Amino acid sequence: MRSEFLPFSRPSISQKEIDAVIEVLTSGWITTGKKSAQFEQKICDYTGCTGAVALCSATGGMHLLLKALDIGPGDEVITPSMTWVSTVNLIVLAGATPVFVDIDRETLMMKAESLEGKITPRTRLIIPVHFAGAAVDMDIIRQTVSGYPDQDIFIAEDAAHAMGTEYKGEPVGCKGTSIFSFHPIKNITTGEGGMFCSDDDKLLNRMRRLKFHGLGVDAYDRHTQSRAPQAQVLEPGYKYNMTDLAAALGLVQLSRIDAFNRKRAELVSLYLEKISGIHEILPLAVPSYEMKHSWHLFIVRLDIEKAGMDRDEFMQKLKDRNIGTGIHFRAVHLQKYYTEAMQTRRGMLPHTEWNSDRILSLPLFPDMTEKEVDSVIEAIKEVLS
Ligand SMILES: *Cc1c(COP(=O)(O)O)cnc(C)c1O
Repeated sequence: MRSEFLPFSRPSISQKEIDAVIEVLTSGWITTGKKSAQFEQKICDYTGCTGAVALCSATGGMHLLLKALDIGPGDEVITPSMTWVSTVNLIVLAGATPVFVDIDRETLMMKAESLEGKITPRTRLIIPVHFAGAAVDMDIIRQTVSGYPDQDIFIAEDAAHAMGTEYKGEPVGCKGTSIFSFHPIKNITTGEGGMFCSDDDKLLNRMRRLKFHGLGVDAYDRHTQSRAPQAQVLEPGYKYNMTDLAAALGLVQLSRIDAFNRKRAELVSLYLEKISGIHEILPLAVPSYEMKHSWHLFIVRLDIEKAGMDRDEFMQKLKDRNIGTGIHFRAVHLQKYYTEAMQTRRGMLPHTEWNSDRILSLPLFPDMTEKEVDSVIEAIKEVLS
């Protein structure tokens, strides 16, 4: 057994990141400024998006987007229930109605067939989630939406898991509107942070305004370093800007993204090889369309019948052997608030529920070693024996 606890995720912070943050700390300007602007530009270069807005979190980005699209009472937003709770919470807080769509049982992603039945005259927004580093089949989703030409249905990709993911030869983020997260477990981190990417200039300008009090300008004039004294409130806004401390960290992390994701992929092939003989453990399927996986998470499902225990017990037994795991995610429609407020219940979304009871994310991060993969496999075998 391992003598030290192995977390399911850990950020990779080198001396370069530390130096970059110290440089900002000692520069005299630590909040939103030229590092944030540089980080936005580098994200545009990397993903191919037209414009990017650096934010304090992906959740903040989603909040601003709902505001920018004027989503409120009477509007419906289609989202998987297999997503992070922040999305659904924000829809409800905006006064709109979340409409849950079931997922593909093997990839955990929204399918066009299930989407079709959920679109109504009230549908305003659809939020596909790129899952675990795999890309959603966006062409099919866009095609489905184009079948409703009289309706203004917006698509916003939840790309929290998808930094470095490519779909049919193009990076996620390069087309349409996507929101990335830089929370410490994501493929790159800024401590906390998010990036709103879009090819819609009008929307980008609205997001820039909403992220900083509704002022027409940033706090930092990117060229003169002086506040624009004539700044006027153009509409009430929020305060969701990214600091330069965070952006400096993000710039170094972004320069390492391809190396990070290569390492993740290597560890996953090792995992796949070693778990293939363990019949109680079922990995997710990789979609068959052309895609580059960024392996944000290595998610497996426990065959609870064969294992003779439920997933939570299995996780606890791994934890007792110093192996950390995570759940991404427990179905949102089965969470206490939603079952009470929206009368959502089991049976509504069979594939979501089946996975919600069985999924767990095994340790995976760029600094993980092959020996550590072995120790995870060994612990799994022990628990199942
Ligand atoms: C992490 C995550 C978010 C939220 O990101 P934050 O930056 O923490 O707000 C949203 N959606 C998914 C799918 C996530 O995994």
